[in-house]
Amino acid sequence: MSNPDQPKTRKQEDAEQARMPYRHPQPKDAFPEIVIPHAIPEDERLWVPQAENVWFRPLCLSASRGYWVNLLRVRKSGVLSRHRHPQPVHGYVLKGSWRYLEHDWVATEGSYVYEAPGETHTLVVDDKVTEMITMFQVNGAMIYVDPDGGVLGYEDVFTKIDMCRKHYGEMGFGDGFVEGFIR
Ligand code: FE
Repeated sequence: MSNPDQPKTRKQEDAEQARMPYRHPQPKDAFPEIVIPHAIPEDERLWVPQAENVWFRPLCLSASRGYWVNLLRVRKSGVLSRHRHPQPVHGYVLKGSWRYLEHDWVATEGSYVYEAPGETHTLVVDDKVTEMITMFQVNGAMIYVDPDGGVLGYEDVFTKIDMCRKHYGEMGFGDGFVEGFIR
């Protein structure tokens, strides 16, 4: 123990500083953090249905920057969608595997995937996979297209928010529930 009457040594001061929290307010305009302890939820109602045997679980819905972070869960095999990315996507495979018809790689459990702006590809889950879960950070929009690039539809953070509001409303979550994911 240090003697309170003795001036602190430089070493003691350095040691105290190292463990000291930042001692000023956060910027007034900064948004609060989001912390989701069980990102892969135990409560089945948290999975928002997207199509038959396809669900997503929102983590961060960035209305201010136009992107969303979610888990995609698929429990069927075959083609899921063909889509174009105007902006980049980052993916991390938590469970199972998937691939794109346009590429020869397979995104297996533990893989990180970067999808470049301008890319159009067709997502497939192979027969042997019973369930895949992947975290995706999708910027801008997903544009759904036919094999020639003809536009069939789109999704963006606002369509995602709408789907979440509808589903969680039906599931009896409170009005403010989706607000917890929006930044
Ligand atoms: Fe993609």
